Amino acid sequence: MRLAGKAALISGAARGMGAAEARLFAREGASVAIGDILEAEGEAVEADIKAKGGEALFVKLDVTSETDWQRAVEAAVSRFGRLDILVNNAGIGGASRLEDTTAEAWDRMMDINAKGVFLGTKAAVPAMRRAGGGSIVNISSQLGLVGMRDSSPPYQASKGAVRLLTKLTALQYAGEGIRCNSVHPGPVVTAMTERRRADPATYQRMVDRIPLGRYGEADEVAYGVLYLASDEAAFVTGSELVIDGGWTAQ
Ligand code: NAD
Repeated sequence: MRLAGKAALISGAARGMGAAEARLFAREGASVAIGDILEAEGEAVEADIKAKGGEALFVKLDVTSETDWQRAVEAAVSRFGRLDILVNNAGIGGASRLEDTTAEAWDRMMDINAKGVFLGTKAAVPAMRRAGGGSIVNISSQLGLVGMRDSSPPYQASKGAVRLLTKLTALQYAGEGIRCNSVHPGPVVTAMTERRRADPATYQRMVDRIPLGRYGEADEVAYGVLYLASDEAAFVTGSELVIDGGWTAQ
């Protein structure tokens, strides 16, 4: 098993890609803490992993709260005895023209998508140091690499911020054996993209931009996250793993 003996904390793991990562990590031998604001969904993922013989724990986590992050890391360490992996996955999406974007909407998205990654990293590093090293995987987006006219200003800015925060984290903690990499998914079938997929014209416009001609599946991203989380990626830090069906190749 690729994560045998390791303990992981994944934010936003109650559904979507985070839940796919939690299930995959557990199948690969990791103990997994599922952090999310969605309690019922998070507890269901925990129960499902346990029913299949895995080790899991749901922790209530709002990624914008430093106190919640400290509690989540403490809960994971106290249950699993260590923390080796953090996946900063929680995020919100949206679309808005720049002039129609309120300052409040900007702050909310930046708080969840960018500050949440900073706070999670800050809370997890001391525990990883005690474990003798670790791997942090930050979920950015293909929209952290290139612009898209009908995205939203704080989505693009927050995902770009995650990309470079990843590199600083990689540089500041490489000496302690803590690696940090970003993942850049393209459009994936999750609740976040439900509205775009429900409208046939919007769906077609998106698919037309994807050379592989379809949306990705959550598991197709989870396998990339698994690689970066595992010791197979022991020489990989500060890098960007693009899983976007070819979106950014053109
Ligand atoms: P999703 O909406 O299915 O899941 C996001 C999860 O984050 C949910 O469980 C939600 O409750 C949680 N979350 C939201 N705000 C939170 C908060 N304040 N604290 C804790 N948890 C919170 O979306 P997804 O598609 O699985 O997205 C996962 C990540 O992937 C996000 O960072 C997203 O920006 C990124 N991403 C998604 C796509 C896509 O096409 N779906 C593409 C590129 C990047």
